[in-house]
Amino acid sequence: MAKSIQAIRGMHDILPDQTPLWQHLERSVASVLRGYGYEEIRMPLVEKTDLFKRSIGEVTDIVEKEMYTFEDRNGDSLTLRPEGTASCVRAGIEHGLLYNQIRRLWYTGPMFRHERPQKGRYRQFQQIGVEAFGMNGPDIDAELIFITARLWKVLGLDDVELQINSLGTNEARNAYRTVLIDYLTTHEALLDEESKRRLHSNPLRILDSKNPEMQAMIEEAPKLQEHLDEESREHFEQLLALLDAAGIPYRINTRLVRGLDYYSKTVFEWVTQSLGAQGTICAGGRYDGLVEQLGGKPTQAAGFAMGVERLVAMLEEQQNLEVSGAPDGYMIMVGEQSQRAGLVMAETLRDELPNLSLLCNSGGGSFKSQFKRADKSGAQFALILGDDELARGEIGVKPLRGNGEQQTVAHNDLAQHISNLINL
Ligand code: ATP
Ligand code: MG
Repeated sequence: MAKSIQAIRGMHDILPDQTPLWQHLERSVASVLRGYGYEEIRMPLVEKTDLFKRSIGEVTDIVEKEMYTFEDRNGDSLTLRPEGTASCVRAGIEHGLLYNQIRRLWYTGPMFRHERPQKGRYRQFQQIGVEAFGMNGPDIDAELIFITARLWKVLGLDDVELQINSLGTNEARNAYRTVLIDYLTTHEALLDEESKRRLHSNPLRILDSKNPEMQAMIEEAPKLQEHLDEESREHFEQLLALLDAAGIPYRINTRLVRGLDYYSKTVFEWVTQSLGAQGTICAGGRYDGLVEQLGGKPTQAAGFAMGVERLVAMLEEQQNLEVSGAPDGYMIMVGEQSQRAGLVMAETLRDELPNLSLLCNSGGGSFKSQFKRADKSGAQFALILGDDELARGEIGVKPLRGNGEQQTVAHNDLAQHISNLINL
């Protein structure tokens, strides 16, 4: 036997017994976003490497060590997208969607990062991204948070906490950066290797370090909050007031800095306790400078991305969520004429009941073996057609779940009978 080939580590198949949950999530997201007037955009999976270097930042986890970068046959350096915002902004500039306009966009699709695979952290993973352009906020920041809060409500996810912070304008952050570097330099002996390396290139990221030996020192560090510019402070206060008015609880987390360079002012994360270490299910914020940084006209922007695998994992924990991929009905056909007539009847039924999901037995078999398959399919009911029933213009309808009796129904009444039976 030939040796079988396995999938790449950290890249997973989503199997048929998992896809109903994914579809449930995707449908819920699409419906909530439609409710706020957001339009879907679809970008390529591969972009020029420079796009990510220029947007995410050279001294970030993603660009330093996580990107799948390769040389195209003509020598161009290309990268499998590690996130969607940069591509979305690139597409927006390229197609003139952003200049002097207001845009509310969303997308979903796989992202690629060469990280150490573990529960909730994969090398190919799915994100749902939402981006809003041309709006100053804080009302649009609030809208983005309302969208996520509504989605959790629709999905029945309640173990989630909103953490929020303001990074200030670039100028304020640069001023704070100097203060922070001074502080960290006086404690340089406590810094680990990575933090030493980042001391001058990306000191804010040091605040985000999970190293237990650095926690006390980080706790004592000067706070960005205390160095916020007036404009950012007001923006933040107004946003918090909007959240209060809408009854959305939050926790101000002054250490929340986000791993990408392009954020300014508002940043937020939704965190759950129910997934262990990889508890952030959604993260975002404002990125007012990014469009210009990527060659567009200055454009206000804000957005967020959700990790679909982590959301699905939370849905899997829910006891009473019933999402089934099973068909509604299973057509059993025994006898030569019935096998032919049954397929045609099934087509007619699909014309009459476009929402019906009907699985037709294929490959013959006795009543008994077809019933077994019907049961295994998870269908709600079986349609039973033998040559005798066919000759009488009738068909059997047998509920397969619960204890309903089998009934004999005239062919002409079948569509009506089914739609009464399962509420189509
Ligand atoms: P982390 O600090 O956990 O590495 P991040 O800051 O790199 O997260 P973002 O780039 O903000 O994450 O991505 C947004 C969301 O996408 C995350 O909150 C998470 O839910 C999801 N996500 C990010 N990386 C992965 C991954 N490797 N596997 C699965 N989901 C991921
Ligand atoms: Mg990461």
